[in-house]
Amino acid sequence: MSSILRIALQKSGRLSEDSYQLFKECGIRFDYGTGKLKSVSSNFPAEFLFLRDDDIPGYVEDGVADLGIVGENVAVESARTIDTVHRLGFSKCRLSLAIPRGNEWNGIQDLSGKNIATSYPLILGNYLREQNISADIHVISGSVEIAPGIGLAEAICDIVSSGSTLLSNGLKEVEVIFRSEAILIARSTLETEKQSLLDKLLFRIKAVQAAKNNKYIVLNAPNVALDQIKSLLPGMKSPTVTPLATEGWSSVHSVINENDFWENIEAIRSAGAQGILVIPIEKMIY
Ligand code: ATP
Ligand code: ZN
Repeated sequence: MSSILRIALQKSGRLSEDSYQLFKECGIRFDYGTGKLKSVSSNFPAEFLFLRDDDIPGYVEDGVADLGIVGENVAVESARTIDTVHRLGFSKCRLSLAIPRGNEWNGIQDLSGKNIATSYPLILGNYLREQNISADIHVISGSVEIAPGIGLAEAICDIVSSGSTLLSNGLKEVEVIFRSEAILIARSTLETEKQSLLDKLLFRIKAVQAAKNNKYIVLNAPNVALDQIKSLLPGMKSPTVTPLATEGWSSVHSVINENDFWENIEAIRSAGAQGILVIPIEKMIY
């Protein structure tokens, strides 16, 4: 039988939509939703399993799944022997310490001998050890932010994205201890055939990610400005320059990194460029 990759995704939650979207952009089709537990792709040798995120690292380690997408926080906390294959850039959040808003904060030493409620005892324990702080870790599995209000703990360590949950529970963030994003994890010992399917998948994921970070740019420029504009728009190899019907002018096509765009656009305009179009790229292969 030919090989098939078994990929575990969060069934429904903060990772799900972006995970499904990623495979869609990689051209890998499968059905999901309405209580489905698994689904075979119609155009790639992959089967998808829909699970709770906390169970994914264990299933990957045990070989029930070959790959999975989870938050790095969950992967690290699970302490499972799995490989991080690729960082995916979505579901970004941080694991932070928070205390009641009215309390003073002079630094991490304030937590010495205190009770801290968390669902992340391993990550918190490691952090406290590094900081040489001895405190009691009180493990609770959900609604950690209510712990100080009901007298269970003097501080909490929990996932924060906007901070609004902390605020509505009368807490303030005082220290970030871990930054997380979604990651692609794999079993450490993949068979050769599965490894080559993973390589194919990674090739597509990288092309999709590169496209997101870059834009196609088209502009008109007077020929006297071409050297300067070419140096501002190096592109993947070099820009394409074609003459316009108007004497002394050319059209320049190139690719520009999103981060460089606003930095360079003024210089490009000052050099004499006109009619600048910036167009999204769907896939980008170096
Ligand atoms: P499940 O029912 O699958 O156990 P859950 O309730 O444990 O889901 P979610 O709240 O869906 O988990 O979060 C999944 C992951 O998304 C978290 O482990 C974290 O990595 C990330 N995450 C959590 N909160 C946010 C947020 N507010 N914004 C972005 N990403 C987040
Ligand atoms: Zn969960």
